[in-house]
Amino acid sequence: MSLILFRDLYDDLRAHGEATYPNECCGILLGKTDTAAIRVTSLVRAGNTRTDSAHNRYNIAPEELIAAQRQARNSGLDIVGFYHSHPDHPAQWSTTDFAEAHWFGCSYVITAIAKGKAELTNSFLLSGTTEEDKRFESQSIVVE
Ligand SMILES: [Zn+2]
Repeated sequence: MSLILFRDLYDDLRAHGEATYPNECCGILLGKTDTAAIRVTSLVRAGNTRTDSAHNRYNIAPEELIAAQRQARNSGLDIVGFYHSHPDHPAQWSTTDFAEAHWFGCSYVITAIAKGKAELTNSFLLSGTTEEDKRFESQSIVVE
């Protein structure tokens, strides 16, 4: 199961992380999932509501999530993932990222931003069916 992104969307989610540096950015991926891949067709930039610790935490406001869900439905799409940045940290999920991930079958995309510049971008598929057996699986990102 790979994650397929158009070049402009890939560049845009990485640029978002550079723009919010040294804080984390976050956003929502809209698209379609089939048996072989998750295809992203648009991004929704979200504001980071974690003003207490915005450099290493992110949270998407519930109203932004609901608006994104409505936008997806109106376009015949689904929420297929989420993205955020790791300022001056590797593009690997943290224990907090894992604890706060609840959308099974969705991609969690993390971009490392080093000194304001986007470096590695990784994606992790949230697999499993319950909080007890959930796990992150590395997935390849295909940029078209
Ligand atoms: Zn994180």
